[in-house]
Amino acid sequence: MYYGFDIGGTKIEIAVFDENLEKLYSERVDTPKESYDEWLNAIVHLVEKADAKFACKGTVGLGVPGFVNQETGIAEITNIRVADNKPILKDLSARLGREVRAENDANCFALSEAWDKDNQQYPLVLGLILGTGFGGGLVFNGKVHSGQTGMAGELGHLQLNYHALKLLGWDKAPIYECGCGNKACLDTYLSGRGFEMLYRDLQGETLSAKEIIQRFYNKDESAVKFVEIFVELCAISIGNIITALDPHVIVLGGGLSNFDYLYEALPKALPAHLMRTAKVPQIKKAKFGDSGGVRGAAALFLSRE
Ligand SMILES: [Zn+2]
Repeated sequence: MYYGFDIGGTKIEIAVFDENLEKLYSERVDTPKESYDEWLNAIVHLVEKADAKFACKGTVGLGVPGFVNQETGIAEITNIRVADNKPILKDLSARLGREVRAENDANCFALSEAWDKDNQQYPLVLGLILGTGFGGGLVFNGKVHSGQTGMAGELGHLQLNYHALKLLGWDKAPIYECGCGNKACLDTYLSGRGFEMLYRDLQGETLSAKEIIQRFYNKDESAVKFVEIFVELCAISIGNIITALDPHVIVLGGGLSNFDYLYEALPKALPAHLMRTAKVPQIKKAKFGDSGGVRGAAALFLSRE
């Protein structure tokens, strides 16, 4: 059996999958906040319970809201203080008597989608999350590409380029501060939050993303104009990512991925920002949504023959 964990700031979820990634069982507990030992124990307890229930010794993959340095096994998970800066892989592995793997949750999202039956045949699947922020994960032949330290795929911290600044009006372009300490990161533009901030700053009205989209479908002039700019901004930035990676499929997740017009508009807007011979990849909506985290974490132990 394959155990996938979604480690959150308030809840820890375990889900048990078979080799076809069919979910057989899941359970959620509160995330211990008092001590690291308690936090480790919560995970160990869930694993032991699953082992007993399925009479096996399942593999353990964790999806975490941060990084786990793949060289040192040390977690950088600032919103789970008790586990932050701790060697979670080594400690869990010692207590559980088996290898433990971990990846950040955007990578788990991408991995879950890459192991979908409709995507499994593709060598390179790129997952993009247009949610609270903008993030991504890169899957080569069924494996997450996380790079030397685990930073690969942190596409939210690529920055606005020449064409994006030109589109947004050079000196008049709204420049947002990013949580990473830098400015003009895509995280603050190609996200639900960015969608709303840009609408406020370009169109001079404060609306929720839902209201903007509603007005767009009602053919409101300001909303239509804004969505055209936003699609172009996505095409410029995602076009650059395609030039670097040339993926077969891009899967979109997060709240804004439910804006269906994107799937029609992006493929039309992308070619202008790609090399002439480049091919626009298929752009699809994520299938697994909220369960992508546990599913992707479980898939950390799957491999193609
Ligand atoms: Zn940033």
